[in-house]
Amino acid sequence: MYINVFKFGGAAVNSAAGIKNVAGILKKFSASPLMVVVSAMGKTTNALEVLLQNYLDDDPLEVVSSYQKLRDFHFSILNDLFEDKNHVVFGEVDSLFNQLRGYIRKGHLFNSEPREYDFEYDQIVSYGELISSAILYHYLVFTGCACRLFDVRELIRTDSTFRDAKVDWKVTEARIQNVILEYFRSQTKPGAIALSQGFIGSDAMGNTTTLGREGSDFSAAIFAWCLHATEMTIWKDVPGVMNADPKWMPDSVCLTTLSYREAIELAYYGASVIHPKTIKPLENANIELKVRSFVDLSLPGTSVKNMREWKIQTPVYIRKQNQLLISISPRDFSFILEENLSEIFRILSDFRVKVNVMQNSAISFSICVDADPQKITPLIEYLGKDYETRYNKGLELFTIRHYSDEAVTRIAGGRKIMMELRSRNTVQLVLA
Ligand code: ASP
Ligand code: MG
Repeated sequence: MYINVFKFGGAAVNSAAGIKNVAGILKKFSASPLMVVVSAMGKTTNALEVLLQNYLDDDPLEVVSSYQKLRDFHFSILNDLFEDKNHVVFGEVDSLFNQLRGYIRKGHLFNSEPREYDFEYDQIVSYGELISSAILYHYLVFTGCACRLFDVRELIRTDSTFRDAKVDWKVTEARIQNVILEYFRSQTKPGAIALSQGFIGSDAMGNTTTLGREGSDFSAAIFAWCLHATEMTIWKDVPGVMNADPKWMPDSVCLTTLSYREAIELAYYGASVIHPKTIKPLENANIELKVRSFVDLSLPGTSVKNMREWKIQTPVYIRKQNQLLISISPRDFSFILEENLSEIFRILSDFRVKVNVMQNSAISFSICVDADPQKITPLIEYLGKDYETRYNKGLELFTIRHYSDEAVTRIAGGRKIMMELRSRNTVQLVLA
């Protein structure tokens, strides 16, 4: 069966017009079965993170205000989409919001124990995708699509690493094949749509889990792999994978073709256009990935596929803001040796801190990491027991693949370089 997997991110569904546009795109591609994965609308995930924080801070006034803002945002989209105010979608979205409120209230009333951040995060933040998929589903049915909504928690099984759940591929593959392929097979007309949520899954106990921020691309790749899809498309508000984020580099250009290898490197270094975990399942099953604009369908976009010996001609710039440079030295002025390094890496892995760049000297080891206080504050405290730690905050990390001298000057010119690392293809600069 020729199956296509489409992923629409928050920017594609941030308004009634956005949802109508998505419905229009789906109609155009309805010749064959489509698996569609959708993220939360607009900046909903960020707003839910704020709500979560208000809840954990036991701040009822802020909880009510954050909750109300989210509700208003979604209902204003619903009001624009559906003229008939008695449409079932109003009741369904209302009931999802009530569930969310119920969860928060229950926590306040009965949970005097300190609550585990990552667990609570997944239970609350996952509502973004549950709500957006319900709205998109009803709109697609309203416009006459043959569409069914599937709760991804009954399909994607993960472990219980909340906020960064690992997929159980065996269980997930069996479920997706049973449920989604069966659905496609049972359709008599071409162009059936199976719709589900990105970003979330559930563990063996049935708890909701999430796959990490921006994880919906990965969700789509999970579906693509399990369904042996022919191709997967990520629909974006940019023309494709650009050689730099057009928001800060106006003369950026679209890269028309990329090898899986190059794409995984770019994603790894932080090119936010594709989630880093997305490429592996696609490469493993040789599924072509397209990154295309949902704004201008006439643009060809980027095609990521199996290509060897192909060299990019333009430098590719990746910028990561809000970076922290931590220097770690043994307290007794002893050398940084393999034993220290392996211990430091074990600690980093225990605290689930990802190192973006590292460098060591005789008596110090420096790492550049995302400044996520939830992880970094306890990490620095723990390291402080055996090591002297110093850190600089508010830094930027630039990675330039296929760099030239001009490219490096363009980025670093006139700025203070805190750390620099060069290999044949890549230069990384930590700038103040
Ligand atoms: N809504 C989630 C996030 O913003 C997942 C995603 O967009 O891929 O992180
Ligand atoms: Mg999102």
